[in-house]
This record gives sequence, structure tokens and C-alpha cells, in this order.
Amino acid sequence: INIDALRKYAQKNFPTLCQPRPHDAHKGTCGTVCVVGGAKGMVGAAFLAADAALQTGCGKVLVGLNQNPNPVPFFPTRPELMVDYAVDVLKTHHQIVDTWVVGCGLSRNETAGQLLKAIWNSSTPQLVLDADALHLLVDISKQLNPTKRADLVLTPHPAEAAHLLDTGVTQVEANRSWAARELASRYRAWVVLKGHETVISSARGALQVNETGNAGLATAGSGDVLSGIIGSLLAQGLEAEEAVPAAVWLHGAAADILAQMQIGPIGLMAGELAQAVRWLHNQL
Ligand code: AMP
Ligand code: MG
Repeated sequence: INIDALRKYAQKNFPTLCQPRPHDAHKGTCGTVCVVGGAKGMVGAAFLAADAALQTGCGKVLVGLNQNPNPVPFFPTRPELMVDYAVDVLKTHHQIVDTWVVGCGLSRNETAGQLLKAIWNSSTPQLVLDADALHLLVDISKQLNPTKRADLVLTPHPAEAAHLLDTGVTQVEANRSWAARELASRYRAWVVLKGHETVISSARGALQVNETGNAGLATAGSGDVLSGIIGSLLAQGLEAEEAVPAAVWLHGAAADILAQMQIGPIGLMAGELAQAVRWLHNQL
């Protein structure tokens, strides 16, 4: 890894990402992300996405858990996060959220579907859907209002893409560009088809292939971290054209840096990625 080469690439391709933070910034100007997920037994997925959103630099991060927490859980290692029951977060903090990241450990129960519908049909401009939210989308897409949302980002791995396209994983893997573009056109969404050489399609079908990342990312939670990074950059005001490819690039480059430090690829843990993203982001 050559940090100068990474910096050069980022300055050319992701100019807003490389801008220094303005001196008069405050937490209200750096964007607010709300991660909705974390059903019973899967709280860590929501935590990883939320932690990644913070470490990528957004001002405030809320976590809405798909369970009735009594008492409300608190993440001792991340007291910066505002954690509550998702239904209550929607009621009380709805207006302050710039970007919703929905699906990490969400489960596919009835409440999960209701949460997704409520968020989809709200006027929030930016929405990142991952994991269980993608599976739910298959079931409830007919009940969703046509959206005027500025940015919708779907981040399927091949099995999630196959479910959304009503086909098999083999078909998706055999034609990754087709799958990404087909999903983009069906949902009028940015699509990140994950895996080795992640394919990104713009909502209009323009394709890019990401070249950072390594097999160390084949570990639980690494997709949740990516969702948090995408949400964070969108909330900070980057256009989707820049935010989506920049997030995928940062996520992969962080894994490459950790692999060079022998913190991976073997045994790399998803929670370690966000710190490396923060370090790299501050080098740009
Ligand atoms: P998920 O399956 O949702 O946890 O997402 C896994 C994340 O790790 C995605 O960002 C993938 O692109 C990435 N990933 C997994 N395996 C590899 C690999 N062999 N090479 C590069 N990236 C990978
Ligand atoms: Mg995933």
C-alpha cells in the first residue's frame, strides 16, 4: 500500500471527501445518520454500522433497535451513540435524520416491515437499504409509494441480489454487471453489488468496478460497516455520485491497509475496519 497513491486517487476521484472540515463546523452541520436494525440476537450489526458512521465523520448517530429494549441498551464502548427502540426514534427524532440506514440485523418480522414502510414513505431524502431490508423489499415493494427520494442506495451481496431479482446466486455471479444494472433500473436506486470486485451501478445504469479490498473482508459484519460508511458520507452532504464509490473504496482500502499491517486478511474483524477508515480519511 502506498498512501501517496491512495491520496492521489482520492483527490482526483473524490474531491469532496478530501476537503478539510470547515472551521465553523458543528455537529448539526456534519449530518445525522439513523441506523435501524439490531433485532434480538443481532444488535451487533446495528452497532457496527453506527460505529462506522461515526468514525467516517458524521455529526450525530442514532440507533433504532427493532426490539423493545427494557432497559434501553447502551453500548458502553460507544456512549456517543443515541440508542432507543426504533418505533420511538421514528416518533421523536424523525425530523433531524438526514440519512437512514435500514436493515443491519433488522430481522424480517412484522415490525421490521412496518418500520421499513414508515421510513420509505416518509419525506427523508436519503435511504440506504442493506441485508434484511433488502429481503423485506421483495415482500412489500407493492405496498410502497413511488418515491421522489433523491438518493436510494441498495447494498446487496450476491444472495440478496438473487432474491431481489428472483433468480439464483449462480446467475448473479455469472453476470454481476447485469444484476447491478437491472436492480438499479427496477428500483431507481444506486446499487452496490458486493463481493470480490464490487460492482456499483448508478440509478441510471452507469457501472464502476471497485478495486480495493481483499478476502479479509469475508467476515461477519463487514457489510454492516460498509452501510454505515455510505450513510455517513451521504449525511455529510456528498452527492451519491461521490459518496457511494468513495465509501466502497474507503472500506476496501481500509482492509488493504490492515492486511499490510498483518491485522488481516486472516482474522480481520469488521469492527477494526472503521478505525482504519478514519485513519485513511484523515490522511486524504
Ligand atoms: P456482507 O456479505 O453484507 O457482510 O458484505 C461483505 C463485505 O465484504 C462487502 O463489502 C464485500 O464486498 C466485502 N468482501 C467480502 N468478501 C470479499 C473478497 N473476497 N474480496 C473483496 N471484498 C470482499
Ligand atoms: Mg450483509
